[in-house]
Amino acid sequence: MTTQTEHVFETEVTQLLHLVTHSLYSNPDIFVRELVSNASDACDKLRFLATSDDSLYEGDSELAIKIEIDKTAKTLTISDNGIGMNEADAIENLGTIAKSGTKAFLDKLSESDKKDGNLIGQFGVGFYSGFIVADKISVESRKAGEPSTKGVRWVSDGTGKFTTETITKDTHGTSITLHLKDEYQESEDGEYGYLNRHKIKALVSKYSDHISLPIQMRKEVWQEDADQDEDAPVPSGQMIETDEWETINKASALWTRTPSEIGDDEYNEFYKNISYDFADPLTWTHNRVEGRVQYTQLLYIPKKAPVDLYAREHQRGLKLYVKRVFIMDDAEQLLPVYLRFVKGVIDTADLPLNVSREILQESRDVKSIREGNARRVLTMLASLANSEDADKQAKFAEFYAEFGDVIKEGLGEDQANQERIAKLLRYHTSTTDGLSTGFADYKARMKDGQKAIYYLTGENLASVKNSPQLELFNKKGIEVILMTSRVDEWAMNFLTSFDGTPLQNIAKGAVDLGDLTDEAEKEEAQKAEENLKPVVERLKTTLGDKAKDVRVSTRLVDSPACLVVGDGELTPQMVQMLKAMGQ
Ligand code: ADP
Ligand code: MG
Repeated sequence: MTTQTEHVFETEVTQLLHLVTHSLYSNPDIFVRELVSNASDACDKLRFLATSDDSLYEGDSELAIKIEIDKTAKTLTISDNGIGMNEADAIENLGTIAKSGTKAFLDKLSESDKKDGNLIGQFGVGFYSGFIVADKISVESRKAGEPSTKGVRWVSDGTGKFTTETITKDTHGTSITLHLKDEYQESEDGEYGYLNRHKIKALVSKYSDHISLPIQMRKEVWQEDADQDEDAPVPSGQMIETDEWETINKASALWTRTPSEIGDDEYNEFYKNISYDFADPLTWTHNRVEGRVQYTQLLYIPKKAPVDLYAREHQRGLKLYVKRVFIMDDAEQLLPVYLRFVKGVIDTADLPLNVSREILQESRDVKSIREGNARRVLTMLASLANSEDADKQAKFAEFYAEFGDVIKEGLGEDQANQERIAKLLRYHTSTTDGLSTGFADYKARMKDGQKAIYYLTGENLASVKNSPQLELFNKKGIEVILMTSRVDEWAMNFLTSFDGTPLQNIAKGAVDLGDLTDEAEKEEAQKAEENLKPVVERLKTTLGDKAKDVRVSTRLVDSPACLVVGDGELTPQMVQMLKAMGQ
């Protein structure tokens, strides 16, 4: 006799379940994708572990996903012969939220956001999406390599609790049975419900065609009625299910196919499968790279930044495959940190199947893949940024609004690509509106005789626009780039010139306008310096240690005085940022 144990969901799961069932009903179909992709992940995991211990297959290495409809019981069952779960795994994996960022995201959602399914769609709800269409889910599973008596049955109605009990299960893997809610079973014409075979087939081909495992359903055959009238013009009969299985997807790994033969829809669906994103990607690039290391890269840029983009444990999106065998998610070695928002797949034959994260860290091949990926992403962004096509420009603006600050980190991290990155950066300036001026645009507008690209950093646009440091520049009609994001000042430490022209922060040290200062002004400045000597001396004595130096300056027009930091010293914004970072 087995005993059921009752468990309560982690608070966040209950919250999530509530959101799922109340907000995602506008697109209930997605549960198919989520459950099929979990089954596929489970098979990938088993195949990977079996590369070093093939007894884990238990003689059953034909991995597949099976979908069965039971019209009498009103259930839909999705089964796999993948890695499976034991009781502890089921409690852990199906009762808590492990995904980083999900909790933070839930906390951030306001009441009105919660009603908006699209926002929730920003992250995958995974397994719990089954509760959109089912009022009870029963999971039976057994971990590969463990005794058949150590299976588990996990059951929940998707409110606050679930139960688990030990069962005997001969085959390894997982079987998920959805007890469909009335409204999702079958419409009157038999067309729409999830008990309808055509509906399920259509959803699999829409969402999961590229899954590299066979997805199978029972084969149906036409059976004529035995007692039909010989003279009837059309024979009567019906489709009946057989015991045979038929494969209903293409079962080829999308990235291994030729790009020209893959439709945008397929790329979009594949992205959603691997990214936990419910929206289409902004853009992607798909190439076969033939160099010292050969690999296939399929890299996507999402439309929206994930909530945890700046969190230390942020997952990086690349999946690594070796000869179509899944090796690992979140292979952080394959991308520089400043491109951590990129999602996708890398498949190479040049790494061993048993490659570990430690090996990845030291591998020269991996370094070369990382560099190849970085270059490819930067090239893709440059082609958007430099395009004449309004759609592409709009895409770049959309990208920049979400990820502009992240790529600035690359100025420091990826010095080899510094120039490519600098060309992508866009700023407000003292004479233009909007994040639209690149360094090249600025250079093209520079005054005759201007020797440097001038910029000013600050906390927000209003404060930099009213900064006394700008007065002289405004008076002389010299444009100044205004940088207002928190990373700017740090990032600009690494960029001292652009295309041969020095970059100068006008809040630092003496600003030499060079040829832009006319003779009369120079004389006037000298005279002023003479006249003001006693004032300067007095200020120096009064301020003592509080100021390093007191100077007569030509940089102000209306304000009587301003604070300046020395070259190579931290500005007040920088000091604040470092404090905020806990330095
Ligand atoms: P995710 O797939 O993003 O990890 P899900 O909510 O879809 O999140 O699934 C949660 C976890 O449950 C998975 O990470 C996995 O550990 C486990 N799981 C779900 N479905 C299966 C399955 N068919 N076989 C084995 N484990 C599974
Ligand atoms: Mg999942």
